[in-house]
Amino acid sequence: MYTAIGYAAQSATTPLAPVKFERRSPRADDVAIEILYCGVCHSDIHQARNEWGIAVYPLMPGHEIVGKVTAVGANVTKHKVGDLVGVGCMVDSCRSCEACQANLEQYCLEGPTMTYATPDRVDGSNTMGGYSDSIVVSEHFVVRIPEKLALASAAPILCAGITTYSPLKHYGVKAGDKVGILGMGGLGHMGIKFAKAMGAEVTLFTRSASKAEEARRQGADHVIVSTDDAQMQAAAGYFDFLLDTIPVQHDLNPYLDTLRFDGVHILVGLIEPVEPPVHAAKLVLGRRVLAGSLIGGIAETQEVLDFCAEHNITCDIEMLDIRQINEAYARMIAGDVKYRFVIDMATLKL
Ligand code: NDP
Ligand code: ZN
Repeated sequence: MYTAIGYAAQSATTPLAPVKFERRSPRADDVAIEILYCGVCHSDIHQARNEWGIAVYPLMPGHEIVGKVTAVGANVTKHKVGDLVGVGCMVDSCRSCEACQANLEQYCLEGPTMTYATPDRVDGSNTMGGYSDSIVVSEHFVVRIPEKLALASAAPILCAGITTYSPLKHYGVKAGDKVGILGMGGLGHMGIKFAKAMGAEVTLFTRSASKAEEARRQGADHVIVSTDDAQMQAAAGYFDFLLDTIPVQHDLNPYLDTLRFDGVHILVGLIEPVEPPVHAAKLVLGRRVLAGSLIGGIAETQEVLDFCAEHNITCDIEMLDIRQINEAYARMIAGDVKYRFVIDMATLKL
């Protein structure tokens, strides 16, 4: 064991504050990482504030981690000291179930061990995330950062990137498909870039007319202001896919109307009951599909990093001093970030 430092919430209502805590020494298959950058995901806010009802305190968020390997266990073969590596939302899984065998560790039938607020499979301790100077993770869950990627802007690929890439890939988005991205925050702006790189015609649905120009700069061909009924109705029956990153309950019915028959509405932002209810006719009468998707497997996380390097895709980031993390949360809730905060861990000192 050794002493690490980081920022954690002690309860759902207290701001994040600096803490000292114990991290394990590397086990035989572990990689120890000095964290250089960590992205700030809206899930961090949901969890710190126990909005999903599953938080465990102290809760140290952070699952868009980029850093340098400082030590490896005796059996590690994939990474060596000095390598630049990443850790995303998961740090372990059962590794033997059907999902794990299919490289879909995120759907592990026993439940994956998440990077924070989940019991470690070996010692039962509460996992602590990347708002920290270091982390120790089993090598299977550590990915390589391609040399071509700038480190800080690569960090959000570990969650915002893979979460938007994976469903677009799974549903086979291809050249000419009409894809709508709902919400332009951390996930949404990456969704625009990936759908565009896959050859789709991309439309951003946003509440904010002021984001239109920015969205075009990200690669969107069209923008629909979702609060404007006339614009929503004009898009009836148009889209093949909708990728929905909106982090709060919202009415899906007007969006389903914009899908063509066989269209797919993919939820990634919502893990609460849908409210107001979906009118089943909107699915039945058009053979439309309402779907969900969770991050991506480890192999696919490596794939999306390589895809970003190959297609020159990076995340638009605002560098954050960790001492401003609580203000950053307030700004994210207000939609005031372009488009991902990334903590510069050099600012973490106790
Ligand atoms: P951000 O806060 O960065 O962006 C969310 C965007 O949604 C905003 O920019 C805004 O876009 C839109 N939005 C926000 N509030 C509302 C509202 N009240 N009504 C309508 N639209 C709204 O969040 P992230 O991109 O980091 O995360 C999005 C969601 O995805 C979160 O719920 C997060 O927990 C979840 N998530 C899911 C994962 C998965 O594996 N399924 C993985 C990672 C995150 P605009 O201003 O353009 O309307
Ligand atoms: Zn995330």
